[in-house]
Amino acid sequence: MKRFIEQSFPVKEVSEESAREKNIRHGHISTLHIWWARRPLASSRATAYAALIPAPDDTEEWDMRRQFIINLSKWENSLNPVLIEKARRDVLEANGGEPLKVLDPFAGGGAIPLEALRLGCETYAGEYNPVAALILKCTLEYPQKYGAVIKEEGKEEGKWKDERGSMSKNPLLDDVKERGNWVLAETKKEIGRFYPEEDDGSIPVGYIWARTIPCQNPSCGAEIPLMRQFWLAKKENKKVALKPFVSNGKVEFEIVKNPDFEPAKGTVKGAIATCLVCGSTVDANTTRKLFREGKASQRMIAVVLHHPKRKSKTYRIATDDDLAVFKEAEKYLKDKRAKLMEEWGIDPVPDEPLPPKETLGFRVQRYGILKWGDLFNSRQKLALITFTEKVRLAYKKMIEEGYDEDYAKAVVSYLGLGVSRVADRNSSLSVWNNIAEKQEHTFGRQALPMVWDYAETNVIRGVQGWEKQFSYILSALQNLSPLTQISPVEVEDNER
Ligand SMILES: [Zn+2]
Repeated sequence: MKRFIEQSFPVKEVSEESAREKNIRHGHISTLHIWWARRPLASSRATAYAALIPAPDDTEEWDMRRQFIINLSKWENSLNPVLIEKARRDVLEANGGEPLKVLDPFAGGGAIPLEALRLGCETYAGEYNPVAALILKCTLEYPQKYGAVIKEEGKEEGKWKDERGSMSKNPLLDDVKERGNWVLAETKKEIGRFYPEEDDGSIPVGYIWARTIPCQNPSCGAEIPLMRQFWLAKKENKKVALKPFVSNGKVEFEIVKNPDFEPAKGTVKGAIATCLVCGSTVDANTTRKLFREGKASQRMIAVVLHHPKRKSKTYRIATDDDLAVFKEAEKYLKDKRAKLMEEWGIDPVPDEPLPPKETLGFRVQRYGILKWGDLFNSRQKLALITFTEKVRLAYKKMIEEGYDEDYAKAVVSYLGLGVSRVADRNSSLSVWNNIAEKQEHTFGRQALPMVWDYAETNVIRGVQGWEKQFSYILSALQNLSPLTQISPVEVEDNER
């Protein structure tokens, strides 16, 4: 039998849908966990369908099918009962009424098996990489196994009700949500004090840091704050920058609106640093050497504030008090890390080496950043090990409450994805996005280049904190659950 895709395919239209999908965030599986080569759902769905149905005989049907494929590929139709049911019937019919078996042996981010599943196929996914295996379990297996949408009594039939406004109950989603809230509440209880609120009720949502090196001019020796630029907010109607000045041989900063200098020009470019005190430069090799020899440091420059009653963010220069709180967090980390090391038998701060220099664009090793844990400052490390600890406790608690082990594992897997999202938004390689006024994620460039000035997140109450990150996971899960009518998917991984 000749398949549709062997003769025709609406390449242009499906490509457009695939490109458009890149801008869709809430509810998309890409928000569960970053994966480099995840295929768009639109093209995965359209190609799977076109490969599974026969080529039609007449031109009229050609046009109809093409139009159907274009509609089917649209993100908005991912849970459209009319279109999806029809697609499933077509696929089933083409295979003589027998559900097709689909195997994706290198399933990666899960787009292709998810779409095969959506089309009603009995789907199998394989992966070698443990991160991908976890993503696949959370994308394919757990929602099918446990995400059964239970229709509520007395409510209208609505098995395909999607996202918001769903009339059905979803126990997996409810449990993930509840345990996620518990993790946040427990973490807040323990380390919330390290992100103190301002007297006027403003919340510190970010801390701007700059790495520093000493000036190599023997008659100067001043600390050079390394900043690629000085903009904090660079919007049409809001221009705020850090303005450096020299006081008693030290570089200081003030916050200025509508700056009268060029904030785009920072103190470092291509690892060549300029001392603002004496004007001399440090060449790139020396800069890297200073980092490797442990002579570099970092300085908290500014605090980003958000008042719950005000729309716009404000900024202030970091003070000794801010630093004192940070130092306290550092001290607390030391004790907690030792305690957990004892308890878990491993260092809670990842001490595995980064891959070799230049692997996948990892270039931070030249600066003495050699282990995964080195990507985070002390308070960031504290936040991550505390979240991790709470996720482990959430599992323990579920077991104690009598939940099935596999189900508890499914629930906490989503919590683990939450920790991962927070880690991505809260490393010392998270750049401050001065247009959106928020932290960018570490893997924005699918590489790990050096970042001189970075933005730490308030993980408890910040705009990029747990609550926000976790909401993405809940939305994605909500969209995956209605596909449960199909036989469960098995993900094969190398851990069992
Ligand atoms: Zn100098």
